[in-house]
Amino acid sequence: MSKNNTKYIFVTGGVVSSLGKGLTSAALGALLEQRGLTVRIQKFDPYLNVDPGTMSPFQHGEVYVLDDGAETDLDLGHYERFTSGKLSRLNNLTSGQVYEKVLQKERRGDYLGATIQVIPHITNEIKDRIASDACEPADIVITELGGTIGDIEGLPFLEAMRQFALEKDPDDVIFLHCTLLPYLKAAGELKTKPSQQSVAKLREIGIQPDILVCRSEQPISNDLRKKLSLFCNVPIKAVIEECDVETSIYELPLALKSEKVDDLVIEMLNLDNPDNSMQIWVDVVRRLKAPSHKVEIGVVGKYIELQDAYKSVYESITHAGIANDCSVRVQRIDAEDLETEGTEILKSLDGILIPGGFGDRGIEGKILAAQYARENHIPYLGLCLGMQIAVIEFARNVAGLKEANSAEFNADTPHPVIHIMEEQKALKTKGGNMRLGAYDCTLAKDSFSYHAYESETISERHRHRYEFNNDYREALSEKGLRFAGINPEKDLIEIIEMPEHPWFVAVQFHPEFKSKPHSAHPLFANFIASTLKYKQ
Ligand code: GLN
Repeated sequence: MSKNNTKYIFVTGGVVSSLGKGLTSAALGALLEQRGLTVRIQKFDPYLNVDPGTMSPFQHGEVYVLDDGAETDLDLGHYERFTSGKLSRLNNLTSGQVYEKVLQKERRGDYLGATIQVIPHITNEIKDRIASDACEPADIVITELGGTIGDIEGLPFLEAMRQFALEKDPDDVIFLHCTLLPYLKAAGELKTKPSQQSVAKLREIGIQPDILVCRSEQPISNDLRKKLSLFCNVPIKAVIEECDVETSIYELPLALKSEKVDDLVIEMLNLDNPDNSMQIWVDVVRRLKAPSHKVEIGVVGKYIELQDAYKSVYESITHAGIANDCSVRVQRIDAEDLETEGTEILKSLDGILIPGGFGDRGIEGKILAAQYARENHIPYLGLCLGMQIAVIEFARNVAGLKEANSAEFNADTPHPVIHIMEEQKALKTKGGNMRLGAYDCTLAKDSFSYHAYESETISERHRHRYEFNNDYREALSEKGLRFAGINPEKDLIEIIEMPEHPWFVAVQFHPEFKSKPHSAHPLFANFIASTLKYKQ
């Protein structure tokens, strides 16, 4: 902590959704960390789900899991990848959580007969969370509000932010509004009207943005900046251009740096942290833009057409490419296509990755992909479901247990090599009933995993209901399956490997939640290194 008290930045979005507010918040956090400030970033989501754990990836993208087991919005993944602050379940607040808490208090009689209202009861609850003292202290708290200005659901959050700012000193709080400047081909120009209107909407409820971050496909001219400044009541130097990045999202910290956003924030918050080198981000971008090698890997999944369903997996692959000075082309393969069209499409691949998933759609296709990787000595990385698939494939095709399956896909299989976990069996609900969060794992020496981590004890994040069935440990081990990682507390299998294979590692956890652009996760880094080594 520096000598200053905590300062607050609120990030809102206007005009359209998917503006990349989460990325902007994360990149801003990275810039401020470079200036020696400690940063905590949190997300407020106006939907009524208590957490996104029960939401389909089709609707909401990936569920991002934290060490403490919180199932959170995928923007928290950006926060962790760009900054070093530790996140917990307190960093993601939904309307569902706010209402749940207020209603619990009401039932307990805590409000002493008062009429419970959005203002002040809901807004007070939100204000408490903005500056929660249960969180690690930080110099700067960045709070991103999900959704778009104008959404009915967002109003209590905006009202809480307005009140919060009123109660603080003016140089303790800033509002940053992200907006879009659409390009109209027919007019041949970027339009400012939607931004003007969304700022007007904010001002109607008493919030004047201090900084305007303008997403656009093209650079913004000085005239346009002047116009935005005038109509949105923001100083011209606080009109920030955020053009689409060329190669990767990891260019964003440098792009915002060239717009001097960090200087602006430091000045507005009356701080005096000196400028520092951005070398780690320069290095990341240099390696991304001019890689020496090239490999192609296949990600075989069920939500393949969706950009966000395997977000952290794709990001981790990019990080591993950076670590290996290598560009990684990712072929997204729909597992069901393998069932109908066969494995021809896998022929050009240097590596195969099967990510996590739920439900039985595409399972047989994934089993075919694991078999193909094993038989053709293609490096394989299995994540969670991808590990269970590898076990089923091995049991069926190497150990001769023809009908082996996971009880998730066939409750009556004679060989449930994957079965429901003891603790999960007792739970009847479908929300929040998985084995979640960080657990330890002890690695076997001489395994691929040990070689990757260079450590005997590791900790990784989990999100699953089913697990390896220890009744099959001996039978499968006799046939050559290596149990390379075990949870010491409960003797659960965490990692399987195939020692005769060039590189075959499948893990019950989700390493993708702990990879960063400048420090790739060791398993992903080793996976990509092995694809380079064994490239045909
Ligand atoms: N469906 C599997 C289970 O519940 C795998 C979960 C996952 O891949 N995240 O165990």
